[in-house]
Amino acid sequence: MLPSNSNCDVLVLGGGITGITTAITLQAFGRKVGIVTSEKPLQTGESNPLVPTSYAMASAYPHNLRIHNLERVSNDSQKLFRFLHECLPVGISIYRMFEVFEGTPPTPPLADSRMNFQTFEGEPKSLSSIDPPIRPGAERVSGWCFDTYFADMPVYLPELWKYFLGKGGLLFHQNIQRADIEQLDAKVPLVNCLGFGSLSLFTDHSPRLLMRGRQIIVPGSPPITASSGLPAAYNYTPSPDVFSRDDGTAEYVHFFARSDGWILGQTREPGYLNSKGEWAGASVKAPEIEVGGVSVPKPILELNQALLSSWRKQTVDTSNLIGREGYRFYRDPDDTGVRLHAEASAKGDLIIHNYGHGGSGITMSWGCALEVARLLRRLDPKAAPASRDLLEEVLLSLAN
Ligand SMILES: Cc1cc2nc3c(=O)[nH]c(=O)nc-3n(C[C@H](O)[C@H](O)[C@H](O)COP(=O)(O)OP(=O)(O)OC[C@H]3O[C@@H](n4cnc5c(N)ncnc54)[C@H](O)[C@@H]3O)c2cc1C
Repeated sequence: MLPSNSNCDVLVLGGGITGITTAITLQAFGRKVGIVTSEKPLQTGESNPLVPTSYAMASAYPHNLRIHNLERVSNDSQKLFRFLHECLPVGISIYRMFEVFEGTPPTPPLADSRMNFQTFEGEPKSLSSIDPPIRPGAERVSGWCFDTYFADMPVYLPELWKYFLGKGGLLFHQNIQRADIEQLDAKVPLVNCLGFGSLSLFTDHSPRLLMRGRQIIVPGSPPITASSGLPAAYNYTPSPDVFSRDDGTAEYVHFFARSDGWILGQTREPGYLNSKGEWAGASVKAPEIEVGGVSVPKPILELNQALLSSWRKQTVDTSNLIGREGYRFYRDPDDTGVRLHAEASAKGDLIIHNYGHGGSGITMSWGCALEVARLLRRLDPKAAPASRDLLEEVLLSLAN
């Protein structure tokens, strides 16, 4: 049974980034919200690969996610991140982000929305004013850089929970079973933010993809600044002979410093869970190394080492490395993408789904939460009528 607590008038299922941001957004327009979840990601030192909130780097720049209303969702999210950065000390900072390619770069998604966006192209010596990371030996690179919000997850997530609970939010620890949903008579609207967990509880025949991300954490390493003075981060795509995916195209590496150290990332390996519940799919083509018992492609360490050394004279402290793998759940990647719509349960309860955010769940979290709030306001007979724009309402509530 799901909690039937008369103090709640909405139950959010799932305590990952989607659940907590949705819950705070609903609180902002006067709802009494309870979160039901089996885990609070990043609360213990342990991570569950199927709960990716623990693994996110987490960059918050507009990405090419398949979602209805992409531009509005992305813009709303960016406005919320800007507000958090300017007004609340919750771990949101601006970084200078470099996306560098040794081959032909793709078109940058939503480039017009990015702050101080600048493209570049040329031989390394011609790019000194931009100063991107460049692999020793690369003859020519191209790409772009921009300023972007980053969420320092070990700070950000606990702050969000503190805010939610401080505003009277309720937390119920429960591993929800299919029977709990089938016998549902919740009497309050439910918002499903269970990520991959949704698939065992709700019917969803859409294709699913688990994009494996293998990464290395370098605990305790300090922030690195770009020549602009901002903290620096990058995605670097070398030529395919240096690091490639199973289909022969180039794989990239990432770097992002956060308060607990550096994240060196991270693969994008498409796959699925096999009958044994193990990830199976198309691994990158590279020699592997063991990092703390986890097998990680060597270029994640060695290419990042080369880039950090030549770019910022930094050495990766290899004495205490942690290797990890987590899965980004992309729902229906070839069709409608994120599931964000309402349906009625057998007994007529309103259920709003909000899951399947792939590799952009942090980036898009606030915009998706606002879409849920808009749906709830439209469909829940008990919802108060709108007095002002929902985004404004959320910002006002967060400011108080
Ligand atoms: C390596 C890696 C790097 C990434 N980097 C970024 C990044 O830089 N930027 C970005 O935007 N995104 C990034 N992502 C993607 C991002 O992490 C996800 O999109 C996001 O975390 C999805 O969050 P969620 O809350 O929807 O789902 P989840 O994190 O899966 O949370 C689901 C919640 O539901 C709960 N739950 C599930 N089943 C049940 C059940 N039966 N009963 C009770 N509770 C249940 C879980 O305990 C959890 O609390 C990255 C992902 C990976 C793997």
